[in-house]
Formats: sequence, structure tokens, C-alpha cells
Amino acid sequence: MGNANRLKRVVIVGGGTAGWMAAAALSRFFADGQRTITLIESDAIGTVGVGEATIPPICNFNAMLDIKESDFLRETRGTFKLGIEFVNWGRVGDRYFHPFGEYGQDFHGIQFHHLYLRECARSGQAGGISEYSMSTMAACSARFGRPAQGAQSLVNQIAYAYHFDASLYAGFLRRLAERQGTQRREGRITDVQRNSETGDVMSVKLENGEKIAGDLFIDCSGFRGLLIEEALQTGYEDWSHWLPMDRAIAVPTANQGSPDPFTRSTAHSAGWQWRIPLQHRTGNGHVFSSAYMDEDEARSILLDNFEGEPLAEPRTLQFKTGMRRKAWNHNVVSLGLSGGFIEPLESTSIHLIQNGIQRLFALFPDNPISPLERDEYNRGMAELFEDVRDFIILHYKATQRGDSEFWRYVRDMDVPDSLARKMELWRLHGRVFRENAELFTTPSWVAVMLGQNIEPSSYDPIADTLDESKVAAAMEQMRRAYAETAKKLPGHEAFIRQSGGWH
Ligand code: FAD
Repeated sequence: MGNANRLKRVVIVGGGTAGWMAAAALSRFFADGQRTITLIESDAIGTVGVGEATIPPICNFNAMLDIKESDFLRETRGTFKLGIEFVNWGRVGDRYFHPFGEYGQDFHGIQFHHLYLRECARSGQAGGISEYSMSTMAACSARFGRPAQGAQSLVNQIAYAYHFDASLYAGFLRRLAERQGTQRREGRITDVQRNSETGDVMSVKLENGEKIAGDLFIDCSGFRGLLIEEALQTGYEDWSHWLPMDRAIAVPTANQGSPDPFTRSTAHSAGWQWRIPLQHRTGNGHVFSSAYMDEDEARSILLDNFEGEPLAEPRTLQFKTGMRRKAWNHNVVSLGLSGGFIEPLESTSIHLIQNGIQRLFALFPDNPISPLERDEYNRGMAELFEDVRDFIILHYKATQRGDSEFWRYVRDMDVPDSLARKMELWRLHGRVFRENAELFTTPSWVAVMLGQNIEPSSYDPIADTLDESKVAAAMEQMRRAYAETAKKLPGHEAFIRQSGGWH
């Protein structure tokens, strides 16, 4: 056993959110004098910088980097996110909340949603499932509380993520990464040299002629995939037949009052609009399919549907939904937009970056790279992308809308078998089976299915083994407790201010 073959030079190409997340994480552990971490970015090319909403695992990423929450919120003008409100998705006029965290409490190992479904069928008095979610009850009253305020508190059922300014986050991580030893090089890469025998990337050449050599390259160059695609021609798996959205128009607006602790997603006739409240502004964007709507119409829908003054000109971004055939090819690992893109309906892109980094840590290679470890990385990333893909497709497939060609298409399309099976299992007995390390939890599937009116024919028969009146009384007590606990929480903005996180 020895360490003679340790891989020494890591080169990160690109300094957007993906590049600086990778640099901050890698330099935290690997800029140890044995290895070098170099990041190359070009100010002239710039970044996408619109990723502003996240999911709860981001808290683990920040914790891994020893980032203090109040510093992070202050520096990125961040707010808390308790979930997403979906408007007009099942039918025009519908509204539901997809919360982070649990619904209710399981009884003797029987999942709460089966008890809820039974109570709905039995008495019709169960109310909305949102009333059993601490995160939803807090979000709806613009309040916030941090878990771990005492073992018995229902506040412990809150799970949260953040909204933040992605460009400020990249800048924050850059300062951290540079302090930890990352070397930053500014300049446009104009050429990529490969080993003629192995095909591996050996070095990249900057416009000024300088060559930067590496053993492992992390491609964070954005949609173009400078190394993974332009140099290695890895190929792209195109999922646009399931997710035909291919454009987004984004515009920030001035805040109207205190920021809400949730994202809003409002469906329009050929896509949907996000609303992401930060401390200093609100991010808005219309994601749409250019096959069903032209850009002028999409822009005017966006401009007609936000509050507050625009703070910049609307900006259009183009994308194709899918993923690289191999996330890691030769000695190049793609992270961020270079690895693939799934529309931000459930705010998953930054998580895909985070997960790619953590997976790379788990499989960090020696020299030469083991194909077995690389295949394992690719298998895991493909599985994660497909999980996210299926969950996003669910939102379109589970619609009753037929008011435009777009909605008729997505309502009637065939979906991947993996999703079709899940929907069928739900329809039969309200069952949700998560496979492997699937990202979205049972409450997430329940929230979207019920929120979009996909009601199962029955509940799990095991629920009938519990005493009806006891369960009904316990549920009523839970409902009251959630409402009362929510009322006592501090306001969202007040909470951030008190914790020192307000800019
Ligand atoms: P980029 O930001 O494009 O950065 C690319 C980098 O590569 C830049 O630094 C550039 O200078 C460098 N580069 C490129 N070519 C060269 C070259 N030749 N030489 C030198 N340097 C080069 N994610 C979420 O998690 N939540 C969201 O709410 C969310 N919303 C989104 C909305 C939209 C419309 C889009 C398109 C994305 C959204 N995302 C969201 C995704 C998120 O924005 C990206 O995952 C994130 O910004 C990562 O981008 P990136 O770093 O991969 O690429």
C-alpha cells in the first residue's frame, strides 16, 4: 500500500457557480501541498448566474465548508426557502404547496399519508394535507423557525433550503477557495491538448499562449462543455421530447415588502414562471417551449405577471434538456451546465453540482484513473439525473389542463417507464416506492400527486388495522398543533435580521 500514484494537478475550467463550488470543496481537502487546484475563468465570457433557488442538501454543502449560515445569508443576500408554491398546474386556478420536510407523523410505522387518505375517504373531514406540514404552515404565514429548538418541538419537522444571488455565492466561494489555496487564472482558453495515445486531456492553452497542464480536469465551462463535448465529443442524451422547455427569460424586480420564505412557480400556456424572493430583489423568469410560443409572447407574459419595478433588461437563455452520455469521460469530469441541464422547476441544478462534487470525493482517483471508479461515478450521476428528470416530468404529466397545444402534448405524452410505474402504484393504493438513494422523498411525491389532483383509488389496506377514532383524534390534534406552532414563529425577515444574516 502506498501513495506514489496520487493524482497531483487538478484544473477546473470555468468560474461560475459550478467552478467555484468545486474549487471551494476541493481546496478544502486537497490543496495540501501535495496537490494543486487551479481554476481558469474568463471575465469576457461571463457566467449564467441565475440559479437562485435550492433544496435542503445545500445546507450540508455549506456545513462541509464550515460556512456560517449568517455570513452566507448576508453575503449572498439570501433568504430561507421552505418549499415551492405551484399555481395553475393541475388546473387553471389550482394552488398547492410542495414543502420540504414531513407530513404529519407516522403511526406504528404506517406512513402518515395513508392515514390521511383513509380519513379523507372515511369522514371527508381531514382538511388539506398542507395543514399537516410544519414547513407549509410556516411558509403560508411568512414565518420561519430553525429545527432543533428542543426535542419535542414540531419546529423540528421544518426542513429548509435557501434562495440566494448565485453570482454573489460564486464570489463568496471564490474568496474562500483562494484563501484555501486555489490558484485562479484569468483568460480565455483557445486550445485543448490531448495525449495522442490515451486521448486524455493533457493541458489547456490560454489566449496569451500560456499552457496549463493537469492530471484531472473539471469541466465547469457552462452549456458549451469546452472539454467534455468540444474536445472529447462525449455526446448528449436529449430529453426534450419529455421536457420541451428550451428557453428562459429572466428579469429581477424590486421587492414589494418582506421576502416570502418560498419559491412560487406559476404555470402559463407553454411553460411556467418562477418568483424567487431575495433580501434585495426578487428573481423572476419565464421558462417556455419555443416550439409552442415565440419569444415576444413569452416576454410579454413575463412582463405582465410580476409586481415591482424591473431592475434590469430581460435576459434570454437557451438550453436543451438532457445530460452528457458520460458525466466523467477520460480524465474530464463535467459539473454544472457542462454536464447537462434540467429546467429549474424543482431547483435541482445546484444540487446536481453538489452531488457531483461529493461523489467525486467518494471516488477520488489516483493516477492512472481506474475505469471501474469512473464507471461507478457515471452510473450514480446518470441515476440521479434520471430521478430528477422523472420527478420534473411528473408535474407536466399530472395535469388536467387541455387549454393549449402545449398542455395537451405533455398531458398525453408517453413518459419513461420508471415514472409510469410510480404513477400507477400511486393510483392503485397511494404507494410511493423510492429506489436506491432517490433524491425526492415520499412527501415530495405525495405533495405533487395530491396537489395536481391525482387521487389514488384506495389507501394501503394496512391503515385499516388502526383504530379509526384514535387516528382521527390524533390527526385533529396534530392539525391544531401545527397551526398554533406556526403562529408563534418569528416573521421570516425578522428571523434573518435577528440571526445577523440581513445585509
Ligand atoms: P456558467 O455560469 O455558464 O459558467 C461557465 C464558466 O466557464 C464561466 O466562468 C466562463 O467564464 C467559463 N468559460 C467558458 N468558456 C471558457 C473559455 N473558453 N475559457 C475560459 N473560461 C471559460 N440552478 C438552481 O439550482 N436553482 C435555480 O433556481 C436555477 N435556475 C436556473 C434558471 C435558468 C434559466 C438556468 C439556465 C439555470 C438555472 N439554474 C438553477 C442552474 C444554475 O444557474 C447553474 O447550474 C449554475 O449557474 C452553474 O453554471 P455553471 O457554473 O455550470 O456555468
